[in-house]
Amino acid sequence: MNDNIAHLLSKLETGLLINGEWGPSSSGETLEVLNPATGEVITTIASATATDAQRAFDAACHAQEKWQKTPPRQRAEILRRAFDLVGKRTEDFATLMTLEMGKPLAEARGEVTYGGEFLRWFGEQGVRHHGITGETPEGNLRIQTVRRPVGPCFLVTPWNFPLAMATRKIAPAIAAGCVMVLKPAKQTPLTSLYLAQTLMEAGLPAGVLNVVCGQSASAISDPIMSDPRLRKISFTGSTGVGKALLKTAADNVLRTSMELGGNAPFLVFEDADIDEAIQGAMIAKMRNIGEACTAANRFLIHESIAAEFSEKLTAALEALVVGNGLDEGTTCGPLIDERAVENMEALIDDAVRAGSTVLTGGQRGEGNGNFFLPTVLKDVPRSARVFREEIFGPIAPITTFATEAEALELANDTEFGLASYLFTQNHSRIQRVSEQLEFGMVGINTGAISNAAVPFGGIKQSGMGREGGVEGLDDYTTLQYLGIKNPYC
Ligand code: NAD
Repeated sequence: MNDNIAHLLSKLETGLLINGEWGPSSSGETLEVLNPATGEVITTIASATATDAQRAFDAACHAQEKWQKTPPRQRAEILRRAFDLVGKRTEDFATLMTLEMGKPLAEARGEVTYGGEFLRWFGEQGVRHHGITGETPEGNLRIQTVRRPVGPCFLVTPWNFPLAMATRKIAPAIAAGCVMVLKPAKQTPLTSLYLAQTLMEAGLPAGVLNVVCGQSASAISDPIMSDPRLRKISFTGSTGVGKALLKTAADNVLRTSMELGGNAPFLVFEDADIDEAIQGAMIAKMRNIGEACTAANRFLIHESIAAEFSEKLTAALEALVVGNGLDEGTTCGPLIDERAVENMEALIDDAVRAGSTVLTGGQRGEGNGNFFLPTVLKDVPRSARVFREEIFGPIAPITTFATEAEALELANDTEFGLASYLFTQNHSRIQRVSEQLEFGMVGINTGAISNAAVPFGGIKQSGMGREGGVEGLDDYTTLQYLGIKNPYC
């Protein structure tokens, strides 16, 4: 470990954040955080128990009343100061993310820009988030709607975007006047702890944000989810866990935001600019080592251009440098764990048995880390697991189509509905095809669609609710309608 990293880790809080204080777990248990590029232990953190989770939630509830009365401008200024601090600490945040999650440093820096922006965006939105006034058609009532904070929130985040998934939830909650408990993924807690440290330095009052991470997710979530004071759960993660949380949420009729898995089709029509499509494919497939819910999962390519597209995509993937994300030359880091590597192997075996051909990759990379070579598969039938399941890794399966109708039928043949991509130069086709794509988001001639200003989210089994944009703040408020008798009636 070099001196800079040792210095960074020495200033990092590794306890539980409860009511503004950092402390150990009530059981004294700890949790090792591993570097997926080397298998080495980066550091250990406090591992929360059910008692700690309850304490964290109690602290949040205690802070709710005062926090919601804090003027929006004050809340916004905390967010703005946090945005500035995150920007100043770009290298620290990027290094932590690369260490614990594996993504190359350049991408981790990109996530600091993207993730930090939610702090600024929601600070700006929070001071101009109003209801409406009006009157009923009969003239008997004046209508007034008021946006109120939804109340105490439980925020659960995944390991793949350790900063952005946290700021995408924390920032609108702060802006709206909600208190919260954040439970980061146990693989990548360090970024969240540093973010919490940064928010406290920016002036966030004690109790508004509490952070508990632990070996057992359910030990933390069970007491919080069953507490009648909880008003909202915001979850980003797999569809399986999301469904289980939705069932529990029904008991207390909670507001839910669910950002779940995806199976994005990447459609390239015969009239597309192929080089632009390759550039888009590299982002949509290879950003975050393919470990993104928005990752292109199925390349659906018109048969007349499939040979050229496959050849160019293969060359582009072969040009990537697989290795430790901390090495500046690396463009493809390790997967999160050994299980993910084994899953890539199983998916490729299955596809080959179903008749696909491996054009490049198809095997583990060298070294102790969880490396897997970027892979292109052609002639992938829709029965193959890679077509049906979320891959979450660097495999690009190619399937061809002959007509627009067939392309749409293939694209929509999934229970997921998060991101989709469409490459064509034909404007009426853009309109026609995107209107028929059953996905919450459509990237048109681009592979990069995430931004703090957009309403990010899915339909079907990819979830509900939107994060980011104007809509992302609505999800942390409830609308109260006041019916005021017209004094002239
Ligand atoms: P995961 O579902 O395994 O874990 C997500 C979070 O849920 C973690 O913090 C985990 O500890 C927690 N968790 C697990 N069991 C729980 C339980 N019983 N109660 C409460 N919390 C529990 O997912 P992951 O492997 O961390 O992340 C990958 C998944 O996340 C992929 O499916 C990906 O598509 C999805 N994802 C979706 C979005 C989106 O915006 N739609 C963004 C990023 C990732």
